[in-house]
Amino acid sequence: MPQKEPVHSQIKDKMRELDARSTKLKPGQYLFGGRGDVWSGTAHIAGEGSCTLCGKPMLSSNWVAIEGVTEVGCPKCIEINNR
Ligand SMILES: [Zn+2]
Repeated sequence: MPQKEPVHSQIKDKMRELDARSTKLKPGQYLFGGRGDVWSGTAHIAGEGSCTLCGKPMLSSNWVAIEGVTEVGCPKCIEINNR
């Protein structure tokens, strides 16, 4: 009888997908995110200006920096940065 695929393997697939789309920060760029982004692993890329690459206004404290998150998690920011 085939075993039901555990949920965490789906998460691994998702992580692999994100790895494949991972991006390198350019000079002057840094990670930005609020508390929610730290929890959900969706750190954004910020550069010049008052928005992240995907257009999120940077109104909160940079919890991503405070918590030491080092990986971009926002698929939109990754996509825009890789263009
Ligand atoms: Zn973003």
